[in-house]
Amino acid sequence: MADTGSSPRFQALQTVTARNPGKVTLPTDDNGNLLKVSDYFGMNTFSLKQMKEKLPSDIYKRFVASTQAGKKLDIEVANALAHAMKEWAMESGITHYCHWFQPQTGTTAEKHDSFLTLDSAGNAIERFSGAQLIQSEPDASSFPSGGMRTTFEARGYAAWDPTSPIFFAEIGGTRTLCIPSVFISYHGDALDEKTGLLRSNEALSASTVKLLHLIGDTDARHVTATLGPEQEYFLIDRSFFTLRPDLVMSGRTLIGAHPPKGQQLEDHYFGSIPARVLAFMSEVETELFKLGVPAKTRHNEVAPMQFEIAPIFEEANVAIDHNHLTMEVLKRVAKRHNFEALLHEKPFAGVNGSGKHNNWSMMVSAGGPEIEGINLLDPGKTPHQNLRFLLILMATLKGVHKHAGLLRAAIASSGNDHRLGANEAPPAIISVFLGNMLDNMLNEIEKDAHKGLSYTEAVIKLGVSRLPTVMKDNTDRNRTSPFAFTGNKFEFRAVGSSASCSFPMTLLNCAVADGINEITAALEGKIKGSKSVEEAIFTVVKEVIRETKSIRFEGNGYSGEWVIEAEKRGLPHLKTTPQALHEIVSQKSIALLTGLGVFTTEEVKSRFHVRIEIYNKKVMIEAETLETIVQTQILPAAYQYSTVLAEGVAAAKAIGLKAPQEEVLARLYQTLSSAQAELKKLDRTLGQIRSNESEEAKADLIAAELKPVMDSLRKECDQLENMVADGYWPLPKYREMLFLS
Ligand code: ADP
Ligand code: MG
Repeated sequence: MADTGSSPRFQALQTVTARNPGKVTLPTDDNGNLLKVSDYFGMNTFSLKQMKEKLPSDIYKRFVASTQAGKKLDIEVANALAHAMKEWAMESGITHYCHWFQPQTGTTAEKHDSFLTLDSAGNAIERFSGAQLIQSEPDASSFPSGGMRTTFEARGYAAWDPTSPIFFAEIGGTRTLCIPSVFISYHGDALDEKTGLLRSNEALSASTVKLLHLIGDTDARHVTATLGPEQEYFLIDRSFFTLRPDLVMSGRTLIGAHPPKGQQLEDHYFGSIPARVLAFMSEVETELFKLGVPAKTRHNEVAPMQFEIAPIFEEANVAIDHNHLTMEVLKRVAKRHNFEALLHEKPFAGVNGSGKHNNWSMMVSAGGPEIEGINLLDPGKTPHQNLRFLLILMATLKGVHKHAGLLRAAIASSGNDHRLGANEAPPAIISVFLGNMLDNMLNEIEKDAHKGLSYTEAVIKLGVSRLPTVMKDNTDRNRTSPFAFTGNKFEFRAVGSSASCSFPMTLLNCAVADGINEITAALEGKIKGSKSVEEAIFTVVKEVIRETKSIRFEGNGYSGEWVIEAEKRGLPHLKTTPQALHEIVSQKSIALLTGLGVFTTEEVKSRFHVRIEIYNKKVMIEAETLETIVQTQILPAAYQYSTVLAEGVAAAKAIGLKAPQEEVLARLYQTLSSAQAELKKLDRTLGQIRSNESEEAKADLIAAELKPVMDSLRKECDQLENMVADGYWPLPKYREMLFLS
């Protein structure tokens, strides 16, 4: 036997089993008394509350007025703000500020500058001007732009988004003032994820306000999308993590045999949270609370060592920034607790993957007292409110029906490919689940069950008037739908756990804005020939129900029958990321996005190119990592063990006996040969892909050729794992990472 006692894997096992829960530091006041969350919530943000305290009231009012109107900040206000911010920051020992933005890599980026300046006499002073607050010029040349910005013109500007609170990040004892920003090129092209989102929010608002005015809600002035993203993640002990080059390089295990116990027992979901994990979660929440992130729910998820954190919903733009912060805090705090937080969609094959359910709705964010703050997907008390709800519901159905392919593209990534359609996550087919009650109601309207009735009678007969009461205890939940109505919001469940919510929310906003615009146009036409607005609404609703019927599906989205049924209905079924991404640049999508003024054609195309490139890079890194692991760890371990077996066989032969391990050795040799053959194939395929110039052609080859070879090589390796004596195996096994962490 190999000397298992000194192998790194064995040492990791010793370390992990001896671990205690990490230290939890709860915030206290100067006298050491524990603080309530409400005492310190948002203490690391320069929020409106801080501004009000620190700014002259005239400046504060002008700031609020100009952000509400979406106007450019005047320089006097900016200077006063910058000064107050600097003073506030310096009280907390902050020396540097940065514009914090979201390049299209899916993560966030920042470049720090200090407040330090030299005055004319050469003395050191701290300065932070309005101009510096509003805009900075990071070197943009290494951020993906999808060809929009040639390298000789590598200037990109980060410009402050005053609708998202400024905060300071505390990392390694260092605090930095972070200014949430958009990132645009010299010519104003969106180089980031936030710019499109903000534009889509405005498009959605303009469309919805117009519709609301048409149906008599003339008080509505502004509408905003709301979002509550439920973040799933895995935790594994860092001692295991560091021994897995695949996790280090790609965030997922590229090989690993399934343990006999997976999640079959379903004993983890909502089970009690282990002490070490709870200590970690508690520290995550404290950090988030300080940052003003309203973390609300924490629980175990379906798979072993899988968990979820969900916030209270906020305006989509802020919720997205907060989700980025949440992902960063999860990763950072995990390390302090000797964990690694895995945000990948599929860290472990054969074990449930992770998603990020995007709970989405629309809220009237400005308007008269009757309507401000109203959730437009919440059925109300009056028939009018219920009809309004029906219209917004129909608009959403229309948007999702018409742009199903684009929404599929919104969630496409190499990581999510392992999840979608893998019998544990929504399929790669976009459909909408409404729940029994709504589904029946729409069917009744479609059948003209209200024919000949007055509007008030129809509302009663169809159940429209009972909507709010029924919806409240409408617990029928369908977990298999990618886009489900859950009482007063839609849940876009197909979003990947590591993804930024920006792109999916941008495209959803656009799709629904399109649906609303079409409904408004139809309604304008119908109102003229109708007895009442209500009658016109019923007619339009009926038309939309018929038109969008194919997108509605109440059954099991994981079943094979659904795939066949969806094909019959003509719904797009885009299995791989490259297939899905082409939807972004379809004529229909370009018309939608440019028509709403959210992207220019060039910006749309760049989004396609950036995503194709990211897909290629990610899978190529995985394949190269797999190749290295097999060559330098898996095969050598198997050779070593086969030598031991061969020695036993030879020794038996020498004394005239046939060793029983001869059979085992033969099988091991066979699997080794197959693994080597697959490895060669992998190497050839990689060469083929590398020699290709076009990124699109590469992506197609990766999906069609490379991924299958990776899978078959993995299969051989997993078989080796089950044959080679445990002491020789170099990588922490699934059962160790998932059940001992
Ligand atoms: P689930 O039962 O689906 O796991 P959770 O409570 O974990 O539900 O998550 C639901 C999420 O939906 C929360 O983040 C919640 O704040 C959010 N949510 C509730 N209402 C709205 C709304 N009107 N708009 C957007 N998100 C909402
Ligand atoms: Mg949840």
